[in-house]
Amino acid sequence: MLTRRTEDYLEAILNVTEEKGYSKIKDIAVALEVKPPSVIEMVKKLDKIDFVVYRKYDGITLTEKGREIALIVKDRHDTLKAFLEIIKVPEKIAEKDACTMEHELDEITTKQVKNLVNFVKSAPEYPQWLRYFETFCTTGKHPCEEKVRRLK
Ligand code: MN
Repeated sequence: MLTRRTEDYLEAILNVTEEKGYSKIKDIAVALEVKPPSVIEMVKKLDKIDFVVYRKYDGITLTEKGREIALIVKDRHDTLKAFLEIIKVPEKIAEKDACTMEHELDEITTKQVKNLVNFVKSAPEYPQWLRYFETFCTTGKHPCEEKVRRLK
């Protein structure tokens, strides 16, 4: 099991590289809100364990091994963020909390969250139960409760 910090670095390097086509110390420092010397120190460690290749002037490149892990973390991130947005967490908070949750959950939990996200996304139309949930969030009452009562 990798540390949260290691996963965060690999994820950030992947994101920056996908965005800019390369990734330099400064970019990672900005992305993770840390000081450049801390990035250099960490990137050197990641280089030693074969997760990245770091060349002072060319920047940081993920190795195959590093990229594999980064893609898993990113997939967890995207899944969790999508889940949080389904349950109506505002985007900014969903982004932040996905980053916390992505390191901690059991694989099975992530898989089931992903199943739920895909289930909702593949629905031919916006799910009725989600509409009910929205009503529930604002009123605290299940909209079907009223229907059932009227039928009795
Ligand atoms: Mn993340």
